[in-house]
Amino acid sequence: MIYDVVIIGGGPGGLSAAIYASRSGLKTLLIEKNTYGGQVTMAAAIDNYPGFGAGISGFDLAVKLENQAKGFGAELICEEVVDIKYSYDYLLKKVITTESSYETKTVIIAAGRRVKEMNIPGESKFMGRGVSFCATCDAPFYKDKDILVVGGGDSAVQEAVYLSKFAKSVTVVHRRNELRAAKTLQKEMGLCRNISVIYDTVVKEILGKSSIEKVTVTNIKTNENKNLNVSGVFVFIGLIPNTSFLSNVILDEVKYVVTDENMNTSIPGIFACGDIRKKQLRQIVTAASDGAQAAISARYYIETARIS
Ligand SMILES: Cc1cc2nc3c(=O)[nH]c(=O)nc-3n(C[C@H](O)[C@H](O)[C@H](O)COP(=O)(O)OP(=O)(O)OC[C@H]3O[C@@H](n4cnc5c(N)ncnc54)[C@H](O)[C@@H]3O)c2cc1C
Repeated sequence: MIYDVVIIGGGPGGLSAAIYASRSGLKTLLIEKNTYGGQVTMAAAIDNYPGFGAGISGFDLAVKLENQAKGFGAELICEEVVDIKYSYDYLLKKVITTESSYETKTVIIAAGRRVKEMNIPGESKFMGRGVSFCATCDAPFYKDKDILVVGGGDSAVQEAVYLSKFAKSVTVVHRRNELRAAKTLQKEMGLCRNISVIYDTVVKEILGKSSIEKVTVTNIKTNENKNLNVSGVFVFIGLIPNTSFLSNVILDEVKYVVTDENMNTSIPGIFACGDIRKKQLRQIVTAASDGAQAAISARYYIETARIS
């Protein structure tokens, strides 16, 4: 069987593309290697997505997007894509996964981004057992405990606020002398009595026997080391694009996929949408918008290239 469109990644970008593609009658397959919803499933609360004035949890939004895509007839499967091949005339593509391969007329790359690790001693030892990248998933384990949040951007501040509802204390450690997070988020954090911020500081080591007992931090201006007694470390120091499986499309110098405004990549019939693209604003609303455009561009490509 030949699909009209195969979408790689089931975050808001990919699911939005699946909604638009299947609703416009294209035979659509979406391949997700992990959890439908992508990064959204890690967001405790989303209050900037239009239509949800009172906010919505990332998990709830993910379920709504998944059900909407399925409702319009998109096929969703869980596999990891490892390569995309295409014919000499670009009319047929083959999406290769770890388990199988799928023929298609067009491909939409919506593989998003993944969290950056600190790469310090103790991080991998306590991964999933004290070191976390997801407040929504793990906050309840830290009820009345002292925890550390690493980072100073929107995600770090937003998730610190959420964690403060569970933990006894939240210490935010940031390597710069001011936070990068939006002022509204900083204001919200300022109202939380159990959150404190340490500036100009990086985490050097995570220590403990079977669980985290303390963390060594270093002031980068004075080189002074300090131990903080915490039982959990939440890391929000940035994200990197999931482009390592892409061998053909043109990437920019920091490995984001280069597209035009209609989501065309450097290869005819292969489109990209969402956080994986080179662009300024990486949010759910822009991922959803990109996904819609990518699906319509895919339909236009099939119609104009007259692929039977
Ligand atoms: C903690 C946190 C809080 C956030 N809060 C907000 C917020 O309040 N408001 C907001 O607008 N945005 C927020 N964001 C950002 C928002 O989640 C992203 O902009 C959005 O999810 C991007 O969607 P996407 O579909 O492009 O990529 P992603 O959400 O990254 O989804 C990509 C999907 O592709 C899958 N994938 C990757 N590689 C492969 C492969 N080889 N094969 C198959 N599948 C693959 C991944 O598993 C993933 O599910 C937040 C992000 C984080 C991390």
